[in-house]
This record gives sequence, C-alpha cells and structure tokens, in this order.
Amino acid sequence: MKEVVAHCTGCGKILYCKDGFFEGELDRQKSFCFTCFEQLHEDFTEEETGEFISRLNRKPDQHIGYCGTNAKEVADVLMQDFSDLSFNNSFAVLKENGKIIAALGADWDSKEKTGELWGPFSLAEDEKWQEQADILWRLLQHKINQKGMWYGFYNEQNQQAEKWISRMGGVKQSSEVILHASTYRSSSIYSGKAAVFTAAFKVEFKRLHNTVFPAAYFSADDILTRINDSKRLFIMADGEDLLGYVYVEAVPDHGEGAIEFIAVDSKSRGRGVGTALLQKAASFLFDEMNIKDISICVSAENKAAIQMYKNNAFLEKHRMDFYKLKDDSN
Ligand SMILES: [Zn+2]
Repeated sequence: MKEVVAHCTGCGKILYCKDGFFEGELDRQKSFCFTCFEQLHEDFTEEETGEFISRLNRKPDQHIGYCGTNAKEVADVLMQDFSDLSFNNSFAVLKENGKIIAALGADWDSKEKTGELWGPFSLAEDEKWQEQADILWRLLQHKINQKGMWYGFYNEQNQQAEKWISRMGGVKQSSEVILHASTYRSSSIYSGKAAVFTAAFKVEFKRLHNTVFPAAYFSADDILTRINDSKRLFIMADGEDLLGYVYVEAVPDHGEGAIEFIAVDSKSRGRGVGTALLQKAASFLFDEMNIKDISICVSAENKAAIQMYKNNAFLEKHRMDFYKLKDDSN
C-alpha cells in the first residue's frame, strides 16, 4: 500500500508512505526527498564556495553586487565577515560529482531580520536555472529558519536572477549605477578645505544623513561607530554650518575602497562642495591607504552626481537593480 503523506520541502515532489515506511527524511519536522535531504546536509567549504561564486560573478549575466570577483577575497569575507549564523547555515549549494554547480547564500542579520542574497548562482540555463534557484531558496529558508526581509542586488544583465526574485514576489526598489576609479584629478578650488569629522558636528551630521539617506544600510549612528583608521568620515563646514560629508571605507588588504555616502546640504549645492569631498575621499584612499580601486554606487536617477563622478575620473562599470523580497512563509 502506498499513500501520499507529504511534499518535499526542497523540490516539492510528492512523498509516499509505502507499507508503513516513509520514503523520505525528516529534518526539524519538515519532510524532504532523499536527494534534497542529501543536498541540505551537503558539506562545502568557504574556499570552494568562494571559488565558485567569484568565477560566476565575473560575468555580467550572473553578476550580483554583494559579491566580489576574487576567489580569495570572497572566501575571506565568507570566513570572517559573513552572516550572524554559521557559514553552513547561511548557504545552500547543489553539487554534482563533488563539485558545486549552484549556490545561494544570505548575509543574514539576526537583529534586523534582513538577508542580502548572495545568489542564486548556477551553471545551468533558463528553466533548469530557475528550478535550481527554487530548490536552493527553499533549502536556504529551511536552514536560516527565520522570517524576514531579503535583499537582491542584481546586475541588470542578470535576467535569470531578476526573473527569479520577481517570481518569488520580490519588488524592484531602485536602479543604481556603480562607478570605479583607479586615479583622480585634484582640481577643486575647495579640496584643501574638507576636514576630518569632529564631535562638534555630530548633530548636524545626523540630521543631514537622515535627510539625504533616510533608509540607508548604515544609519548615522552606524557610521559613527564604524569610524577607525581605514573607515573615515570627512566634512566640509562653513563656521558651524555643515555643508556636506563623505564617508569612506578602505580594505587595504584587498587594495579596494568604497565611497559609501556622500551628501551635500541642499543650501550648498552647486558650489563644488561635492567635488571637494570626493577629492578628499579619493586622496585619503589612494594616497594614505594605498588603494588601487575605488567604487561608488549611486542612484541611476541622480544624473548630476553621476556626471560629477565622471568629471573626476570615475567610469561607469555596472547598472544594478535593487529588490526587496518579504518572506511570510515558514
Ligand atoms: Zn526534494
């Protein structure tokens, strides 16, 4: 006798009970087919995952903004600076003949209940890509086992990922342009006037950051607690008035730096304050931190800012789409 008793949590396949024996496995009260159960408990290291992700991430049609393209750097991040959960509970992979063929992870923040999606990445095409992405997503949700908000940051050429997250109910929030520079020109008449942030400007800084970036990934307080030798906040002021600020982070070990936030008070726009802050940031990263490559991410709608970066030796590298996916399942 054979009766339907459950559906596989990973692939959705029907699971039967035959002559009193369940043809599947249980994991924390959820049913899995034998294949998905094996994938759920698959062994994988940060190194092999980093190698797989970085290789795929170099192609625009697989590119995801959260992940790098250097295998060692990606492995380093996965080992040291990734997710509040263990690495194995923050990633799901599919393997074939001992090699990773698809992967999806999340940089999960247990306090905020948010996860930046590192994937889906897959070597498959079209329908098979979507099918693997669905399985990885269900396995990952089972591993993380918390409801929350998921973020997708996909190259606009990564059509499989955009199709997948839209199908899951994700909604596009914005389009962003990523620009890079490996050199800069010092031409602003104000460049010498940008200075290191001091506590006297704390209130003004918080006001300006919250006005310009009300829903940013770092709040004003986050930025103030992050400041150290390689993460710096510079300001431009006129007496006690804050005209603008720039917040930068350098990763000297990787030779990379990012301009995370740059903002100019609305009263002070069009006076070269942004350019001066940009050059202060570039000079700190290139000259003091020995950074070889600076990136900046800016809203595609902010054409004036994009033009300012281009005027200062930045080149457009990627156009990205940012998605949010609310998860009410589990
Ligand atoms: Zn299954």
